[in-house]
Amino acid sequence: MTVTCELKDSWKQFLELVEKKCSSTEFHNWFSPIKVIPKDGDILHLEVPNIFVQEYLTDNYRDDLALFFPDLENGKPPIEFHVKQDKKPQKKQQANPIQKNTTFLLNKNYTFENFIEGPSNQFVKSAAIGVAAHPGKSYNPLFIHGGVGLGKTHLLHGIGHTIKNSSKNIRVQCITTEAFINDLIDNLKSKSVDKMKRYYRSLDILLVDDIQFLQNRLNFEDEFCNTFEALINQHRQIVITSDKPPSQLNLSERMIARMEWGLVANVGIPDLETRVAIVQHKADQKGLFIPSDIAFYIAEHIYLNVRQIEGAINRICAFCRLMNLKITQDIVERVLAELIHKNPSIRVTIDGILKSVSNVFEVKTSDIKGDSRMKNIALARQVAMYLAKELMDDSLQKIAASFGGKTHSTLLHAWKKIAKELKENEKLNRQVQIIKRNLKG
Ligand code: ADP
Ligand code: MG
Repeated sequence: MTVTCELKDSWKQFLELVEKKCSSTEFHNWFSPIKVIPKDGDILHLEVPNIFVQEYLTDNYRDDLALFFPDLENGKPPIEFHVKQDKKPQKKQQANPIQKNTTFLLNKNYTFENFIEGPSNQFVKSAAIGVAAHPGKSYNPLFIHGGVGLGKTHLLHGIGHTIKNSSKNIRVQCITTEAFINDLIDNLKSKSVDKMKRYYRSLDILLVDDIQFLQNRLNFEDEFCNTFEALINQHRQIVITSDKPPSQLNLSERMIARMEWGLVANVGIPDLETRVAIVQHKADQKGLFIPSDIAFYIAEHIYLNVRQIEGAINRICAFCRLMNLKITQDIVERVLAELIHKNPSIRVTIDGILKSVSNVFEVKTSDIKGDSRMKNIALARQVAMYLAKELMDDSLQKIAASFGGKTHSTLLHAWKKIAKELKENEKLNRQVQIIKRNLKG
């Protein structure tokens, strides 16, 4: 009994920790569905809804899961997954091929009115408004890409809201790529894929969030591409978001070409003035008055990610309400210091990558930057280029130039080759993991 309680408690604490570390979509998709199975022994038993969630967790959240075991030195966290056995009769499931949990509700705050525009996002916002006004008739697909927390999901939902408000009869589906894949897996299991296909192909508008999760999911990519083509051929609107432009996604040529058919638009990092407006707007929404010098201070210190701005406002708001204090520069400084301290983002540099790659591959950094085609040197060079593109925010041109003046197409070629090879080559995979770990200190 006590074992069970303790376990549940520590799992709850662990979830709170994880929730702070990842986005709410991530948390909702991957961590919320997990159930702890109380059993004696050192192994943690977790129940997951399907094999995909299990795979995804072990592939992408191993380090986070390891946090559950504070004494774990390194290596694999001792977890045993159990895929949930479906007790529902199949018939019932087949009646509704789209599982409830996968349909993706629109966030009520993510409207166009609440989206503050500036030079970095004006273009993409007007493209989104255009698509919402004339679905299937302007740009199709509309492909929105940009960094984390810059408003991609917000715009996607904005389109969904506008369309839903304009007509009750339009069939809109907004879904994350993970949910699409989950849906497909569930339907494969219950042998109702045809129904699912029919459902998706009957939509007027399909809004797909975070297409980057389709990378390395060969089987699902085909199915997605078929759905995509079927819809576009009938002039149904598709909107896709992604953390990278189509050409930089590790997807098939066919899929990339399809995504470039319509309009590709970037959401950039808002400039200072826009960030100040965002701070004011978010504070307004919370009924909080922020003097302009303080709004300016916040906007100056948080500059890469609007989600973080929101986080800061929430904290400041909570702090001031709790302590019954007026906002002052002093309070804001303290809150921000804590926030920035909690997210130490280690900057990856070319030098760091070269050093780490040269260690693991046992070649000289000068060789990596040089032109030698010797097999081991060329491989080390390609891995270094791959990592630089994955881990750095600089432009491809700039990154390529720092490899002894290579071109951006050489860089892309190297990146594609390694990305492909990583899927098949276990040793290379391990080497890359080691380098990444070294880079993160
Ligand atoms: P992404 O999908 O690009 O990671 P989100 O759309 O989830 O980012 O945005 C993160 C948060 O920042 C959301 O709460 C969103 O409302 C807010 N946000 C982002 N850009 C803007 C903007 N231009 N105006 C107002 N809020 C924004
Ligand atoms: Mg998003």
